[in-house]
Amino acid sequence: MASSILHCPRDGSALVSPDNSQKSVFSRNGISHCPTCSGLALNSSAASSEICIKKLEMIHDGFKDEGISVDICCPFCDSEMKVRDFAFRKIDGSLTELIEIDGCPTCSSIWLDAGELQRLSPPSGNTSNSPSSEAGALAIVLDLLLHLPFVFV
Ligand SMILES: [Zn+2]
Ligand SMILES: [Zn+2]
Repeated sequence: MASSILHCPRDGSALVSPDNSQKSVFSRNGISHCPTCSGLALNSSAASSEICIKKLEMIHDGFKDEGISVDICCPFCDSEMKVRDFAFRKIDGSLTELIEIDGCPTCSSIWLDAGELQRLSPPSGNTSNSPSSEAGALAIVLDLLLHLPFVFV
């Protein structure tokens, strides 16, 4: 799996694999990112962080029997993906804004559009950021979120 090139389910761009990313946050969480739209693809078998692997498997459970089918294919196994709304529970007990997550019912992978994470953490005003550095910023947001409990809504 590691050697095959994955493609962005949104725009078909070749995804940058975690190993080819410069930042450890990508390899730790097994994040492949799209150089065009800054979307993030995660797969539990690509991650090295135990927290991330457990969280992805828990999220995957929520896509086996539930979720609404969407017209995009899993970058890892080509299954039709599903979408669900979910939120993370913050330290103070309140929930983050709802974000949409596309999950694969077959393998434990998820796709996150850049816009979903940007709603939780708006870009810091520097509009000249390249999509890759934007993906890096979003991966850091996601890295923090993966430490929080999540709820499907
Ligand atoms: Zn893309
Ligand atoms: Zn899949």
